[in-house]
Amino acid sequence: MTSYDTIIIGAGMSGLAAGIRLAMFDQKVCILERHKVPGGLNSYYERLDRKLDVGLHAMTNFARRGERGRPLTKLLKQLRIPYEKLELSQQHFSRIAFPEHQLSFSNDPQLLTEEIEKTFPLQKDNFARLLELIKKYDDVNLNNKYQSAKEKVREIISDENLLEMIFCPLLIYGSAWENDMDFSQFVIMFKSIYLEGFSRPKNGVRAIINLLIEKYIQLGGELRLGAGIRKIDTERGVVKSVILDNGEIIQSNKVMSSIGFPETMNIVSEKQECPAVGAMSFTETIFFFDKKPSDQGIKDTIIFFNDNEKYKYQKPQTLCDYRSAVICFPNNFGYDDNDEGVVRVTFISNFEKWNELDRKTYLLRKKEVRKESLALIARLFPEFKAKLLYYDVFTPRTIMRYTGHIKGAVYGSTQKVRDGRTAIKNLFICGTDQGFLGIVGAMLSGISMANLHCLMNGDKA
Ligand SMILES: Cc1cc2nc3c(=O)[nH]c(=O)nc-3n(C[C@H](O)[C@H](O)[C@H](O)COP(=O)(O)OP(=O)(O)OC[C@H]3O[C@@H](n4cnc5c(N)ncnc54)[C@H](O)[C@@H]3O)c2cc1C
Repeated sequence: MTSYDTIIIGAGMSGLAAGIRLAMFDQKVCILERHKVPGGLNSYYERLDRKLDVGLHAMTNFARRGERGRPLTKLLKQLRIPYEKLELSQQHFSRIAFPEHQLSFSNDPQLLTEEIEKTFPLQKDNFARLLELIKKYDDVNLNNKYQSAKEKVREIISDENLLEMIFCPLLIYGSAWENDMDFSQFVIMFKSIYLEGFSRPKNGVRAIINLLIEKYIQLGGELRLGAGIRKIDTERGVVKSVILDNGEIIQSNKVMSSIGFPETMNIVSEKQECPAVGAMSFTETIFFFDKKPSDQGIKDTIIFFNDNEKYKYQKPQTLCDYRSAVICFPNNFGYDDNDEGVVRVTFISNFEKWNELDRKTYLLRKKEVRKESLALIARLFPEFKAKLLYYDVFTPRTIMRYTGHIKGAVYGSTQKVRDGRTAIKNLFICGTDQGFLGIVGAMLSGISMANLHCLMNGDKA
């Protein structure tokens, strides 16, 4: 029977990063991925010669080359990947668009401060106090316990409109909780979006995935695609082996799982309590037009749109909530590698409603999502006139099918496992449900959990 030092379940961002760390220190390591294509929630596919990214709107945590103390710089150092290889280009600027107010922000944090001072002059000092708190807070401490971010921020920001506007991008880009988030998560997201900012690698997400795989293989790591794990076989609270979908049995001293906390505990052979399953999922439409938005005056990179009096970050009672959205213009980064005009429109969606549809109705409803998305683009940018060449819609059902996340919960469970430990002695969680998410967060999670649980102390330099 084949045997490894560590088996990693899932070849998403966290699994690949964890694999690199372990292979770097000569562990015999194997990543097992159910799908034929790696990347997980941030994968890619091709349709009619067009390259589509599943997840990527933008990479958060932008850092310039060599900028010290930044998560991106730290992670590249740990993975020994040169900064230049990512070929990052920065956003122009993004915008939070609410019924009464608009706030722009860019990779220069000063812009957001100035916008808040202009739009909410009475909150100027409060926002400065919030910035102070955020800069001092130890957000990555693995012992931090859940505390409501809204309650804590409300102690400082006394204008509810401003509070909602600050929270909107942070919630939709990373909260497993409805209408709130954990304060540590809030600080991580605040820094990664408002203080560090957005960028995009040339050639999109496949550039990152290819870099990670190349490094991992070079270091001697094994990657098996199309190799799903059906069961984690345990005996008295210790993993003995994993059983693949095809019945193959593989032994390992340690198992690190990136597939989610409930998803992992569900396949442990000795019955485990199932952790909470998250409720937040999304529908996204990717459009390809014959003209680029920037040629017609649209300069925004990402718009966080909300038409409700109060921003509702919650599972809707209908298929989608069309009253709020994220609209991303991938052409509007510093370097534009798309031949066509691309627009991505994301709506908060209800998994159960999508899941109960028969095939015919499902396809019809996807067309409605396309219609609503086009209507929103036309409403926000009436001047944008272009011929639609191609589009694709994916739903919470697609997300579950291709990533295995129960109910298509993109940000995973509300029960995060900050230290990565489970009730099984040699089974650890990394990625989304360890609590660091997004592209950069997931990679950092893989690195830190591999360092903490699978490498000897002397191996981590
Ligand atoms: C629509 C959308 C837009 C997004 N936009 C952005 C963005 O713009 N910027 C950003 O930073 N982040 C974005 N994200 C979030 C980001 O993609 C994730 O936070 C991150 O990729 C999570 O990585 P992970 O390694 O934790 O998990 P995953 O990517 O979920 O990796 C887990 C892997 O495990 C595999 N797997 C599952 N079950 C099994 C099994 N039993 N056996 C073997 N393999 C299994 C899955 O196929 C998957 O490949 C977006 C996500 C989505 C869905």
